[in-house]
Amino acid sequence: MAREWRPASWRQMPIRQVPEYSDPAALAAMEAKVATFPPLVFAGECERLKAALAEASRGQAFVLQGGDCAESFADFRADTIRDTFKVLLQMAVVLTFGAGMPVVKLGRMAGQFAKPRSSDVEKVGDATLPSYRGDIINGSAFTEAARSPDPARMEFAYLQSAATLNLLRAFATGGFADLHQVHRWNLDFVARSPLSKQYEGLATRIDETLSFMAACGMSSDNAPQIRETAFYTSHESLLLPYEEALTRESSTHLGRTYACSAHFLWIGDRTRQFDGAHVEFLRGVANPIGMKVGPSMEVDDLLRLTEILNPKNEAGRLTLIARMGHEKVEAKLAPLVRAVTAAGRQVVWLTDPMHGNTTTQNGYKTRSFDAILSEVRRFFDVMAGEGAVAGGVHVEMTGNNVTECIGGAHRLTPADLGANYATFCDPRLNAEQSLELAFLIAEELKA
Ligand code: PEP
Ligand code: MN
Repeated sequence: MAREWRPASWRQMPIRQVPEYSDPAALAAMEAKVATFPPLVFAGECERLKAALAEASRGQAFVLQGGDCAESFADFRADTIRDTFKVLLQMAVVLTFGAGMPVVKLGRMAGQFAKPRSSDVEKVGDATLPSYRGDIINGSAFTEAARSPDPARMEFAYLQSAATLNLLRAFATGGFADLHQVHRWNLDFVARSPLSKQYEGLATRIDETLSFMAACGMSSDNAPQIRETAFYTSHESLLLPYEEALTRESSTHLGRTYACSAHFLWIGDRTRQFDGAHVEFLRGVANPIGMKVGPSMEVDDLLRLTEILNPKNEAGRLTLIARMGHEKVEAKLAPLVRAVTAAGRQVVWLTDPMHGNTTTQNGYKTRSFDAILSEVRRFFDVMAGEGAVAGGVHVEMTGNNVTECIGGAHRLTPADLGANYATFCDPRLNAEQSLELAFLIAEELKA
């Protein structure tokens, strides 16, 4: 595509999933305000993540991307952030052991506020209101006032993202993620579960390894990887007025423009039209980016999109996040992987086993742990069959003791869903289910 790219060139293209604001002047004023705010991430960090993803594309690292479906203003608390971070650290050590290679940690955190919806409206009884689109756009309460898109929400989303990122950075480098703390990452409610025993066994082996390494003269003094970790943030690049306002030309990486709301942004399955606004915006930023690949993706469209989004075929630039539904993996994913491989396109393939497996039970949106696991297993099989690299996993999870997905070690049933169903959008794995999934993936990686 020879057309010139600018941070605002998406405005010329058809756009889906971004609502009309009733007060365009208020929207423009907020965009101008956000454009004065400091960037949340820096070019050098985005490039480090890109290099780590390039390793994953070659099978020398494994990606763990996880967090809420939708972060919320109401659930903005240190313990929520800490507990999700703890579970990601636990999953990462389990996977590092299983894969015998580094795990790239990528949170769906510190900015995951905008949601695409399958319907523009929600009906309750006789009332019809606009759908909830995430806290950066409107409120989830079923009232006219809450559901009206409000540009002022962008400012709070930015501030919450900044504070969340600040805490994550402190956790990642300030001692919390030190491998000597591996026992402390276990959450109380998981301590009673069989997974906890398995995790404690692993943690004890890590302790022994650290003692052995220290005896050989290797400690966090000369191996800082022991006491700190690299943790990156990501979200769906949906609300383009906000994303554009945080897009900056780099002063260190000259000639490159970065979306500075997160290290990694992705395009959702509903907004990946090659002549649409979302593809136009992301094609021009220098960040590592992702694209969801659902069952309606055609081979020709995927090849065209990989060229538009990664014209220089740079390793680590483009991550394809497959979300087919467990029954469709072989039929839908295999031909796509085959074509991308045959075309020599450099990509990281992740599996998102959540979004193709959503169902309704007792009025709750849910997912079954078995279907999730089945999609992951089939993903590994398809990648192996095609001679391609299974680069990692993308999950919706939380450190809270929620009851949103059925199954898992505690065999949650549809009747249990009401006990603590707290998501603002899609159902998430709880800490125990997340850990269980990590152990099962570790088995696949060893196989
Ligand atoms: C999501 O990741 O929350 C999401 C909406 O996914 P998809 O675009 O794959 O439907
Ligand atoms: Mn979701």
